[in-house]
Parts: sequence; C-alpha cells; structure tokens
Amino acid sequence: MAHWFIEIINTKLNFNIYLSAIFDIILIIIYQMNQILLPLLVSVFSLNFSSCSLNTKASSSDLDKPKLVVSIVVDQMRFDNLDKYKESYSNNGFNRLIRDGFNLKNNHFNYVPTVTGPGHASIATGSTPKTHGIAGNNWFDKNTQKDVYCTTDLDYENLGGNAYSAKMSPNNLLVNTLGDLNRIENDMNSKTISIAIKDRGSILMGGKKANAAYWFYGKDKGEWVSSKYYMEELPKWVNNFNNSGFVSDYIREWNTLYDINTYKESRSDDNNFEKSFKGDPSVTFPYDLNMLKDLNDGYDLLKETPFGNSLTTDFAIEAISNEKLGKDQFTDVLTISYSSTDYIGHNFGVDAKETQDAYLRLDLEIERLLNFLDSHVGKNEYTLFLTADHGAAKIPAYLNSIGVKSQNIEEGTVKNILNDVLFKSFGSNQLISKIMNSQIYLNDYTINSLNLNLDIIEKTIINTLSQLDFIDKVYTSNEIINGNFDSGYELLIQNGYNIPRSGDIIFKLKENVISYGNKGTTHGSGYTYDTHVPLIFFGKKIVQGESNVKTKITDIAPTIAKLLGLKQMSDSTGEVLGFVIKD
Ligand code: ZN
Ligand code: ZN
Ligand code: ZN
Repeated sequence: MAHWFIEIINTKLNFNIYLSAIFDIILIIIYQMNQILLPLLVSVFSLNFSSCSLNTKASSSDLDKPKLVVSIVVDQMRFDNLDKYKESYSNNGFNRLIRDGFNLKNNHFNYVPTVTGPGHASIATGSTPKTHGIAGNNWFDKNTQKDVYCTTDLDYENLGGNAYSAKMSPNNLLVNTLGDLNRIENDMNSKTISIAIKDRGSILMGGKKANAAYWFYGKDKGEWVSSKYYMEELPKWVNNFNNSGFVSDYIREWNTLYDINTYKESRSDDNNFEKSFKGDPSVTFPYDLNMLKDLNDGYDLLKETPFGNSLTTDFAIEAISNEKLGKDQFTDVLTISYSSTDYIGHNFGVDAKETQDAYLRLDLEIERLLNFLDSHVGKNEYTLFLTADHGAAKIPAYLNSIGVKSQNIEEGTVKNILNDVLFKSFGSNQLISKIMNSQIYLNDYTINSLNLNLDIIEKTIINTLSQLDFIDKVYTSNEIINGNFDSGYELLIQNGYNIPRSGDIIFKLKENVISYGNKGTTHGSGYTYDTHVPLIFFGKKIVQGESNVKTKITDIAPTIAKLLGLKQMSDSTGEVLGFVIKD
C-alpha cells in the first residue's frame, strides 16, 4: 500500500533526498516519453478510428467539462497553515495546488456558528444555516424538548458498525448540494460519493441525492460504515476493504515525520497548554498508539492522530477506482473531508508540534491523492478545490502566557449565572431549556404555565449577560431576524440564524474568549481566527493565479456549478467567482 512507501521515505531520512531525486528523474523520463509517445498514439488512433469515433464522440461542450470534481475540506484549517509550513511542504501537495491553481487568500465564513456541521453544509450548498438549516452540530428542538444532532435520522438503519452505531441521513439539510444539482441536471447519470472520518463531514457534503456517504466507525474492528438511506447493503469493495485489516497497520508509534528540531514554526513540545490522549499524562512525542488504544475507544484513537487522514486517503483511492469515478462523460463528484486535523487541533492547539506534524503529513496525503487522480482520471481531467470548515482560536492559556488577554468559559457556567438571577426574580430556575452555540433557548412551557411575562424575562437575561466581562453583545431573536445588516458581526449572526432551529437570545463572546475546557482549544465564533480559511481551485478549467479579494465560503458551490455549465444554484446566497474559471 502507498502509506508503506511514504513510511519508508519518512523513516530513512538519510535516503530521503537521494530517493526523491531518483523519483524526480523517473518522473521526468515518464513525462518526456509522454511528450513524444502521446501525440504519436493519438494521431495513430485518430487515423484508424476517425470514421467510427464520430458516433460515440461527446459534444465539444462535454469535452470541456472535468470528468470529476473533487472537493477537499480540511477540518479546522486556518488560512495561515498554507504559508506557515510552506518551506517544509513537498512540491507536489499543497504547494502544487498553490503553484498551479488559483489561491484565494482572503476567504471567510460569512456566518456563526463556525463549526463542522454548518461548515460542510455551507461549502456544499453555497448557502448559510439561515437557508440550509444546519444551524449547529447540534440544536435544540423546542417541540420535542430534545437536542438534535445534525445528521441523526432514526428512520434509517446503519450499514456496518453494530446495534449501538448512530443512525444517520442528510434529511436535516433543507436545500440541494452541488453534488445533488449535478446529478439532477445529468439525469442521475453522474455519481456523488462522500468520505470523511466524521459522519457529518461526509453526509452533509454529499447531500440528499448522493449515491453514498461513508464515515469511520472505530469501535470493535474499525471500519467504514454508511446508512440504509443510500443503499440496502455496503458494496462488496467496501466489505473487502473493511475485512483487509487495514486499521491495524496504523496502530504504531506516532513520532514526528522529520527531525523535531526542524519544526521551528511551533512552540516547544512540552508545555501546560495541551490536552493529550486519555491515559497519557505526556504531551510530547513519541506517542505509543499500541499502549493507548484500549484506553481511547479502540481504533477511534486513530481519528485523533494523522493516521486518520491516511485512512481517509486510502479509502478515497479505493472509492475512485471501484466506483469508476471520472470514467465517463458524466461528471462525478467526490467529496473528501480530512477530519483528524480537527481532533489534533482541539487537543494540542494551533501552534503545537503535534499540529505541525499533522499538516506535514497531510501534505503528503494530498500529494498521494493528486498523483492517484493524475493516473486514474488524468492530469487536467478533474477540477479540485481545497478549503476548510472553520479555523480555530489559539489556546487561551497560551495567549495569556504571552500577555494577550484571553479566557475559557463554559456554557454551563453561563446557565448557572442566569438561573441564579432568574430564580431570584421569578421564583423558577427552569426558565431556560438549553444554552448551545452561544444561543439561549427559553422554556416556553414553564414560562406560560407560571404566567410569566416573556419580555421581562428576556430583558432580565440580556441585562445579566451584558454585565459579564466575557460577553460583548446580546441580541434577541427578533433583532436578528428583522435587522437590516450590510456587514459586521450582526450579519454573521443573521446568516447563521435558522428560525425554527436557533435560540431566543444570542450572545457574542469577546475576542479570544472561547467556550471550552482549560486545555486545548476550539472554534465557533465570527472572529477571523475562526472565519479565515484557505480556498484554492485547481485543475481543469481553472485559471492559475492568486488574489486577496475577499471571498465567501458560499461562493464555492455556485462557482463550480458555473464551471460545470449547470443551472444556477437557486438556494445559494454566494456569488460565482468568474475570474477563476477559464473561458
Ligand atoms: Zn470541523
Ligand atoms: Zn506537545
Ligand atoms: Zn472542531
């Protein structure tokens, strides 16, 4: 398998330079041969078969289309991760995308909350939670008085896993994805396949018309699973892959890819800011995954290491070849989300040696994927984009250590503060059902049955919150729904606000205040550390270049739709970035 090959290069550092030089020479020879042989083959072929090829030949507009669209989302990738480690990246991974593609350096999320479910849904649909309905990873349903997970659907049995595996579908998504539109417009002759370690990173990218979405279930034997929403049983190739014992190869030592002393872009490995694996008091390399596996939910441990991203590439490559993606005139869509960078970022933070290592390894995964696409679909026969579902804040304890005021606050603490005040004023501490995503869901039932005045309760909550030193501003849902905002944080809240699914009162935390425990970090705000993410278009019909023009995450789907010659995405609130598309 290809990760073997990477490992050989990685562990034998001394040979690294020689090996890569040899491979470069081989590549140059192959390239040169192609230059001579290909035109020759093409001319022979067209001479002999030109008469019969007329019947089967696709129209010239079909030939213009890429055979495959590949969407790569890196879970929790800040924009600066492209530049920061540039010197240590290979020439053929991120740097190839930057060099040969169009790099949009000022691309932002245009809503809050900047978390995974809404992030993937917004990339895929070109709209925001206000429209696509994925208002958070979770939201609160006032009718059932229960939390809703964004991709849970009890109507569909899981495929793979066991009786305790979660049941999932894309049914909470209210509008079409790019993949949906592409299938509908091509009379369902096109395919959409979605892959991610995280269920929501896979399901929400594909959409309701996807042929399949796969995600990783790490308990028991470790396997790729899906839902009966898509099919009656897993394809044979998936079962074969699952039975190949592929996960056990990755239970090994996680050490740095290169000499740790060359990791100059991150802080020292040993510090008080990082959260390590369960059962491991150490926050320094190396990590012995054999020892940690049983303390960390079995193969689920792999999610929190760079090997989760390697597993994702392994499976994506299997999917491309077994599903014959990009092999006919109907453009297919493959969505891949690399989830492990998010787990690693949460545990170790954005400036950690562990995070730097995760990116240097992910770069090689991108290179491996591009090389496979070149050989299987063809160089310049596919169009690809790379972006992220959100960024992340620096760890508050670390920021404080360098003199930047920062704070952790948990939503439970906010709830306790409010309940104390509400009990004193109204005699009940049951007036709030839930606080999530910096939104307060009021308990309408209790408020009505106690005959309390909703307005006065809201004012009391707003007054209390406004006096807290970690809160910047507080809004009622009416202010957000009816406000006329052209820009600013209020517009981000409005774009992220879904009327049936979002809360009654919305608060904005101050900059560098995060809703998390005191080690590690998170994301979710509308500040640039969470909104500013990479966006690179690459491949067929993409202009080579870069720009600092401000773009929005919702521009991606309509831009690709335009490139594919599809009709406009009717629910998208983004704009076509025409300047990245070749005429
Ligand atoms: Zn995420
Ligand atoms: Zn560390
Ligand atoms: Zn996250």
